[in-house]
Amino acid sequence: MRKKLKLIGNLATPSLKTYITAATVVLLASLLVSFWTWNNARTSLKRDIATTLQGGTDGARDMVISKIGTYAEVLNGAAGLFKALPTVNQQAWTNYVSHLNIQNRYPGLQAIVYSEVVPDNERDAYIAGRQTDRPGFSIRPEGQRDVYVPVRLIEPNVGENAQVIGFDPYQEPARKKAMDQARDTGALSITSRLVLVPDQNNPKASPGFIIFVPVYSNNAPLDTVNERRAALIGFVSAGVRSYELIDGLLGSAITENSAVQVFDGTNQDAKNLIYESPTLSNLRKQPGIISSSSVITVGSNRWTLVGYVNQSIASKAQRNQPRLFLIAGILFSFMIAGGLLFVMITRARHIAHEKNREVQEAKDSLISLASHQLRTPATGVKQFIGMLMDGYAGDVSKEQKRMLQKAYQSNERQLEIINQILHVTRADSGRLVLRKEPVDLHSLIRRVIDEHAGSIKDRQQRVIVSKARAGLSVQADPQYLTMVLDNLLSNASKYSHPRTTIRITTKQSGDTITIAVSDAGVGISDEDMPRLFQKFSRIDNELSIEAGGTGIGLYLCEQVMTLHDGSITVKSTEGEGSTFTVSLPSK
Ligand code: ADP
Repeated sequence: MRKKLKLIGNLATPSLKTYITAATVVLLASLLVSFWTWNNARTSLKRDIATTLQGGTDGARDMVISKIGTYAEVLNGAAGLFKALPTVNQQAWTNYVSHLNIQNRYPGLQAIVYSEVVPDNERDAYIAGRQTDRPGFSIRPEGQRDVYVPVRLIEPNVGENAQVIGFDPYQEPARKKAMDQARDTGALSITSRLVLVPDQNNPKASPGFIIFVPVYSNNAPLDTVNERRAALIGFVSAGVRSYELIDGLLGSAITENSAVQVFDGTNQDAKNLIYESPTLSNLRKQPGIISSSSVITVGSNRWTLVGYVNQSIASKAQRNQPRLFLIAGILFSFMIAGGLLFVMITRARHIAHEKNREVQEAKDSLISLASHQLRTPATGVKQFIGMLMDGYAGDVSKEQKRMLQKAYQSNERQLEIINQILHVTRADSGRLVLRKEPVDLHSLIRRVIDEHAGSIKDRQQRVIVSKARAGLSVQADPQYLTMVLDNLLSNASKYSHPRTTIRITTKQSGDTITIAVSDAGVGISDEDMPRLFQKFSRIDNELSIEAGGTGIGLYLCEQVMTLHDGSITVKSTEGEGSTFTVSLPSK
């Protein structure tokens, strides 16, 4: 039997471990899938934002290219004046340019300028000629060069702009490079990043660039680079402040959640920066900022336009989606793993319970069978010893009678144990059925005391009964209630020294009747208390070996009292005594 029980224990333990491992694996796998889904959703959100941003950046690039294209048309139109008119003076220039309304229609465009090619050998005559209508005219900067390309006409011709007349852009490398390129290709050309002449004394001025368009002499052949070089008479140009140009083009599209940078060239270096939205520095402090770039090609120049956005360009629902996936995934993972564990444990418990029950049933029927088989011969022994003592087989000597009495008592004890075991198996299998009837409590107590009169007398103990009132009656099964009180009185006597007093006190409060059996015996220690009502649990004390017992008396008492809808409690002090109190309803 023991072996079988152990086997069940062994089977149950590894199963639980396996179940926990299985649930953990499911949890981890499900969490992994959740994180994967979350990561995918995040990547796809970023991709969507990046696609939208790229669309915006490309759109901005196209707007800049198209705007520069219209500026080039304006300059080409102005260059056409030199074909239409024999001489273009400042008045004609002013008339033409002011008609274009550049301040309002062409953001960033500062002025439209005409500069004229002057070879060194014509320089002095040129200066002298210019001084007739513009006293004090000079070519700046001073110094002798092979060729000069001083500014002759400018419109608007006011304020700082007027100072530009006579300035020779060709001596400055960035401008020269663009001018040479325009001359050689016959098409527009743009300088690299520079600061326009009127802005040169302003450290906070916007960076800018100049667009040059070549002007060739009328009717000259222009098919080869050399022909174009020979035919060149000047340049129409326009300075553009890049901040004004790009603010004018994109300003309204930029919100606090977006920004644009434009670099001269393809190297995104601060020194090449020609535009930066004021929103960028703030935007950079936020998490999840995404950037995308487009290259703007104008003539042979390249600019890089970089667009920035944060995640707020996606809708709130889109932005929350990855987080929702993650939360739902984690919850789902724990639910599924928890559910699985619950199902597996419940099933394991059920199987263990079933097996336990089977074993218990087998054990109970074995004990029951054994006890029944023992009871019949033991009862036979009792009868025959009784007959011997009563002289049915002839006279018995005093010594023989004393021995027979001992044998009779041992046999009685044996029968009591067998009966207790039978009661336990009945109680455990739910076959202990009460037959309740009104019971006169004091008569029952009296009978129990009489039963034990012999042993109590042997120990020279006294039993005092304190009655609540005469004629106290309870609704109980007399046989089992007798068994309970019998046990309590027997214990009180067994576990007390000789010449002590046992008190049985009955009380009634409302519908509850209590019977307390107190002794002045060895008592029970606090640590032994929890085992007191356990089946087959004997507790060692100084009298327990001499008293003998099975450890099932109190267990049975508790079962019986529970069946009576009552209870049994104990109060004890080691070395001073114990009080066992049973309570049960009076009706
Ligand atoms: P048994 O008396 O057969 O051992 P019980 O179930 O009646 O079994 O009691 C269990 C244990 O409780 C006893 O072994 C004993 O040590 C302790 N016990 C019971 N009643 C008393 C008592 N009145 N005083 C001290 N110890 C007691």
